[in-house]
Amino acid sequence: MKMLDWTIVETLAALDSAKVSALELAEAHIAAVGSLNPHLNAFITITPEIARKQAHAADVARRAGAAPALAGVPLAIKDLFCSENVRTTAGSKILGPFIPPYESTVTGKLLSAGAVVLGKANLDEFAMGSSNITSAYGPATNPWKRDDGVKLVPGGSSGGSASAVAARIAMGATGTDTGGSIRQPASFCGIVGIKPTYGRCSRFGIIAFASSLDQAGPMARSVEDCAILLEIMSGFDPKDSTSADRTVPNFRAACGRNIAGMRVGIPLEYRVSGMAPEIEKLWQAGIEWLKQEGAEIFDVSLPHTKYGLPVYYIVAPAEASSNLARYDGVRFGARVEGEDLIEMYERTRAAGFGAEVKRRIMIGTYVLSEGYYDAYYLKAQKVRSLILRDFREAFANVDVLLTPTTPSAAFAVGEKMDDPVTMYLNDVFTVPASLAGVPAMSVPAGLDARGLPLGLQVIGRHFDEESVFAIAAALERAADFRSLPQLRAGATP
Ligand code: GLN
Repeated sequence: MKMLDWTIVETLAALDSAKVSALELAEAHIAAVGSLNPHLNAFITITPEIARKQAHAADVARRAGAAPALAGVPLAIKDLFCSENVRTTAGSKILGPFIPPYESTVTGKLLSAGAVVLGKANLDEFAMGSSNITSAYGPATNPWKRDDGVKLVPGGSSGGSASAVAARIAMGATGTDTGGSIRQPASFCGIVGIKPTYGRCSRFGIIAFASSLDQAGPMARSVEDCAILLEIMSGFDPKDSTSADRTVPNFRAACGRNIAGMRVGIPLEYRVSGMAPEIEKLWQAGIEWLKQEGAEIFDVSLPHTKYGLPVYYIVAPAEASSNLARYDGVRFGARVEGEDLIEMYERTRAAGFGAEVKRRIMIGTYVLSEGYYDAYYLKAQKVRSLILRDFREAFANVDVLLTPTTPSAAFAVGEKMDDPVTMYLNDVFTVPASLAGVPAMSVPAGLDARGLPLGLQVIGRHFDEESVFAIAAALERAADFRSLPQLRAGATP
């Protein structure tokens, strides 16, 4: 059905001209979720009744001439955002029975803007992963197929969100990004995703993984759709002391900016060995596209890039080990009884957490323990500030940076599974921007030799998402990426 292919921009126009009602749109999406979710496992929980109610309310508001900005747009919400009275699992067994009594700030803003929530999207357990394989609710899969037909991962941790948006069973989605979890799955599924500046969106009500890195952001099928969503999701929140008290710019207008004269840096250190030749080629194509629109290209150096992954895999587990200490069988979710309190804690945590989460808790506890704190955690924090300094120095001369999003296209379910370090390499291009807290966006730009989507990443200065949107929109126009995943609503397989 055509309407399932619409962008949010097209949908809002169709709703405003009464070409379609929010309820019709919701019904089409609910049906599409029903037929495709058994294949994709993109949703952990579906909420069709809630979606119908919200769609009806959007139609009533529109008829009264009082439709808020997003009235009637069907979205998927990553199951890391607390939804009031809707089960919220974080992809973990330990939160299996958890029904939050409150709504996260970001999703609350989307609801106030009239969004229709189709359900809670699958993710790696506590957002720890790059493949969605660590979800306790089974892996979400990628709607794209490789020439050999094997099942591919959608990337992670926001894999369910990316899969749903690419397969046209949701128009947009929320994601969270701690080290790449919006950008990498967006790249793997051929959609757009932006991690805004740390502090741009409130973290209140988002289940914490690594608090100094976690950021919410939108995922959608166009740069402008992401701009619309991010504008609604952003803003200061007194309930999150790290949210920034800054006015939210008009991101949508930034998408139409002329980029002539903008300065684009190409970081030398992102030319890693073993990168697929198609990715190298696509990066070059991106450079040419921007030049044609009048941007100036400069080589820049971010000398501490090579420490990005080691620093991330010390800092993120350290913070995770502390954040996840709250799951003790007393206050939240699941409990396994024991002879005494300690045994109850141990059994609850042994049964409730999956292998990857346990690995991170152990690494994190180790690097924070007496005798190792200085050698690992403190050292990592120092190197983190050098990484930040690299970006600051680069941004003294250029407005944005252009890099690939990932070192490879989507891989098969089961690949890279035996060695966690190989899995961690996925994040090599996304982690530095997370450590520095700067905004970064992935735009689909082409296909690899096996027909899979590849993304380019645009990184900007702190709180300068506007330049990121301007450059990303220029890349989107030039790349004219129209390829579609094989598995999608409305397509006959
Ligand atoms: N893949 C990274 C990790 O496993 C990033 C995850 C994320 O951004 N949430 O930590």
